[in-house]
Amino acid sequence: MNGKFELAERLLKLPPYLFFEIDRLKKEAIARGKDIIDLGVGDPDIPTPSVIVEELKKAVDRPANHRYPSTVGMIEFREAACDWFKNRFGVSIDPVKEAVALIGSKEGIANISMAFVDPGDYVLIPDPAYPVYKNGTIFAGGNPYIMPLLKENQFLPDLDAIPEPIAVKSKMMFLNYPNNPTSATATKEYFKKAVDFAHKYNIIVCHDAAYTEVSFDGYQAPSFLEVDGAKDISIEFHSLSKTFCMTGWRIGFALGNEKIVGGLTKIKSNIDSGAFQAVQESGIVAMAKALPVAKNIYKVFERRRNIFVKGLNDCGIECDLPKSTFYIWFKVPPKYDSASFTKLMLEEAGIVITPGNGFGEYGEGYVRAALTVPEERLNEAVSRIKQVI
Ligand SMILES: *Cc1c(COP(=O)(O)O)cnc(C)c1O
Repeated sequence: MNGKFELAERLLKLPPYLFFEIDRLKKEAIARGKDIIDLGVGDPDIPTPSVIVEELKKAVDRPANHRYPSTVGMIEFREAACDWFKNRFGVSIDPVKEAVALIGSKEGIANISMAFVDPGDYVLIPDPAYPVYKNGTIFAGGNPYIMPLLKENQFLPDLDAIPEPIAVKSKMMFLNYPNNPTSATATKEYFKKAVDFAHKYNIIVCHDAAYTEVSFDGYQAPSFLEVDGAKDISIEFHSLSKTFCMTGWRIGFALGNEKIVGGLTKIKSNIDSGAFQAVQESGIVAMAKALPVAKNIYKVFERRRNIFVKGLNDCGIECDLPKSTFYIWFKVPPKYDSASFTKLMLEEAGIVITPGNGFGEYGEGYVRAALTVPEERLNEAVSRIKQVI
């Protein structure tokens, strides 16, 4: 029997899913036996460092880990996160009151709006961006207010351009540096401006810090929490997914203001029962021991970046070497838009990339390539692009 079940309005309010056509064309091409180079999804091809995998094998055998975890995460996990954070950024966080484990940072980013946004509240959302900021806001009944990320502003929101009446009605703001999809970075001076803005208008800043470790040429991304006064108004989301190539494990954490972390925890305690403890124990080992191995992985991404950007430049496509993330964000050649160039790449070159407008209207005219294939495949991709353009 087919029931007539209408989707809830909040689902109907989501922006259209623009990757549908590309997904379809990709599946068709694969079915035809075409050799596809997939630079579409931001999911590293490199396996998780073995020291972490070995820990999971042992942790799975411990019966204590077979029971319900706690929503906030094991104290040992939160301590390991705070220790890592203190070493890396020089900022002390209380693991009891100011830290919560997450089932991947996406989970926390999606849930934070439920804790603080009421219907009618404005939430300041960058565009282009990771879609969860806007969609989580919509689920909570909030009004997304778009902050365009423009090249002439180094892909940073122009806070002075936000109208006063909107700022006054805004409850939260999302930021994400190093940035997906633009691979832009932010300075501490910029973060300071955001802290001042947030203090002035009583706004919670949610900083998505998924890519702080994936950096090149010696660059070290700052944490939002390094800025004086940041902890009064912000929460920062960290993920082990990109740092340790652990996307499938679903583990991350959030740090920051006690009340903000507490609000998120309250929502979570009514939705989930925490991350599998064996995964948390593996995460502890990752943060304590696996960074040297992970740094070698970033070298791999750095070499891939050099190959791909040089290839684009050889074709006359302007693109600087990003300092961070494994994404190359570039403007499509003049006669194309995001969709038509993505289609050209797929149909003529057998390369999957992501159309920039899939990340929001201000991504139009751009595309994103994820460096998630080995060097020889990337060389092949570059030579195919050269033939097509
Ligand atoms: C990958 C990614 C995340 C989150 O990943 P999790 O696997 O859920 O921890 C968050 N934000 C951005 C911008 C990302 O690209």
